[in-house]
Amino acid sequence: MDCLFIRRNLFSYQEHKLSDKDTKEFEAHLLSCAECSRIVSEFRSVTSVIDLRKDAEPNPFAGTRIIQRLESEMESNKEKREPVFIRILQPLAVAALLVIAVIIGFSIVKQREPEISAIINHRQDIQAIQSDLNIPDFVDEDETFFANK
Ligand SMILES: [Zn+2]
Repeated sequence: MDCLFIRRNLFSYQEHKLSDKDTKEFEAHLLSCAECSRIVSEFRSVTSVIDLRKDAEPNPFAGTRIIQRLESEMESNKEKREPVFIRILQPLAVAALLVIAVIIGFSIVKQREPEISAIINHRQDIQAIQSDLNIPDFVDEDETFFANK
């Protein structure tokens, strides 16, 4: 029995799948080989964690029970449900408000279109006068004031 056999048969040993003779030799090797004994104990702690996980996993019926529970909760909620108009009208009202908001937004832009284009024209006029009179760009007086401080 060598170390390779131990490492290859960790699972078989753990699951008691080795023959009696192999098990005895396996354990005899562990007593004489610190390295293999360390590997086996580490393997055991790993597999015990896996076993714990397996136990912690919900059994297949738990999921079904949870769904059934949810369904019955939903059923009982239906019985004491809010008035129909709130459930149906609430989303409708939200949608209507959105539409109204968009329409108002567009109409404001439409209404202000002459104003906006007047402002743009005005700026163009100023720029024309500026270049005619050879005036440099307007200077923010506050900015220069604070910059000089
Ligand atoms: Zn060994």
